[in-house]
Amino acid sequence: MLSLINQNLQAPLNDPITGFLNRTDCFDAVAQLASRATSERPLSIVWIALDRIKQINESFGHQGGDVVIFQIASRLRNKSGTDALWFRMAGDEFVCLSPVGNSELAHQFASTLLNEIQAPLPLNNLLLHPSASLGVAILETDETPSACLERADRAMNSAKRAGGGRVESSSPEAIPGRWGVHLAHHELQIENQLHLAIGQGGLCLHYQPCVDNEGRISSVEALMRCTSHPLSPNEFIPIAEKTGLIIRLGEWSLLEGARFAKRLAASGQHTTVSINVSRAQFSAQNFPQTLHAALLCADVNPGLIELELTESLFMDNSSTVQTNLRATLDAGIKIAIDDFGTGYSCLATLKDISAGKIKIDRAFVVALPHDRRALSVVRSIARLGEDLGMLVVAEGVESQDQVDSLLDAGVHIIQGYIHARPMPEESLLAWLMNRKNT
Ligand code: C2E
Ligand code: CA
Ligand code: CA
Repeated sequence: MLSLINQNLQAPLNDPITGFLNRTDCFDAVAQLASRATSERPLSIVWIALDRIKQINESFGHQGGDVVIFQIASRLRNKSGTDALWFRMAGDEFVCLSPVGNSELAHQFASTLLNEIQAPLPLNNLLLHPSASLGVAILETDETPSACLERADRAMNSAKRAGGGRVESSSPEAIPGRWGVHLAHHELQIENQLHLAIGQGGLCLHYQPCVDNEGRISSVEALMRCTSHPLSPNEFIPIAEKTGLIIRLGEWSLLEGARFAKRLAASGQHTTVSINVSRAQFSAQNFPQTLHAALLCADVNPGLIELELTESLFMDNSSTVQTNLRATLDAGIKIAIDDFGTGYSCLATLKDISAGKIKIDRAFVVALPHDRRALSVVRSIARLGEDLGMLVVAEGVESQDQVDSLLDAGVHIIQGYIHARPMPEESLLAWLMNRKNT
């Protein structure tokens, strides 16, 4: 196999110390071998990082370090047989590609490599005890070669974090990491599209009504949409949060949402507009000023605005968050706890939270009406919410069966496709009007 690969790779440059191929060759080889891998002989990747090589370099100089690397590389090559291809990825990191039958065998193979590395090694009258962290990944049928390399690298890092001297096998799920070039590129692309959207007016808000147990509209939630590029909020919101752009997006939606509440009131509908505020936005020191500016610009009654904050924010004891919570309530704005049940908080903490509404996450709702455990969680939240004088909303409700079990469990308000999907302003106004007339 080695000769086959070497014929196809362009002038491979072997590393002078280990004799292994280099990093660029590795990416080419993985791609070539991936195209030839079969389900009986899948490609396995073992990523090895020597532990404590820095210490050896410091004690024996780089020459000493080179001797250790040379010796270990010879051991690895001898142990792995002719089917294996070796690469030096960095000073103390190697990759071995080989066709190993399944993940169990690949793990065993990596363990024998670790044993070889850990055999005592004499250097300058001292006996060293080398060690390494190894990550193993088997190429899945629908996986790209670089994603598989990435998993092996991640597994190696996790072995290192666990103290080194061990082998970790990667699960087949793709994970972003050091080699996440595709992911990073994709994120940069979305970030750029968001910058363009902000600059060109390519954002808008859609509104989804929330209906109480007597059929009245209790509020509408403002949900951001990108009209200039085909991006869903689940795609762009996390990237905006990662890049800090969420602050600008959040300021925009706060102002737009407040303006809409004003227009809605002017049309005779005194309905609360709920606006999502991200953790980063709410943790900023100048949040109260931003909030006041939005209220002032929109010239809206603050009682018509509600902020949806995720539950983890309420557990944040930082003085900025606490000040911002107080400033929001003092301004006459309502607060709702969003996605309740998905964070780490427990029911007991609800009594300390200064929110008037709890929104039970869709994750509990999808399991209804058949999942008894989900139902008993919903019932407990509803009961406690009621005792604490809070309104309880269920999100993502799609069927009448779900509505029935939620109302029976004591939930006050239903939000979901069963009533309406999020829609543009004009459609919502028409929807509200239509409802009024029937
Ligand atoms: P969220 O705050 O939990 O919003 C509810 C999400 O559930 C919305 O997704 C809504 O369209 C969706 N949904 C409502 N009813 C149903 C249903 O019956 N079935 C299903 N499957 N889904 C339903 P959307 O609009 O894609 O927004 C996703 C998330 O993006 C939001 O989750 C929120 O966390 C975030 N987001 C949206 N707009 C903003 C914003 O202006 N600012 C911030 N910070 N985050 C926002
Ligand atoms: Ca929300
Ligand atoms: Ca939610």
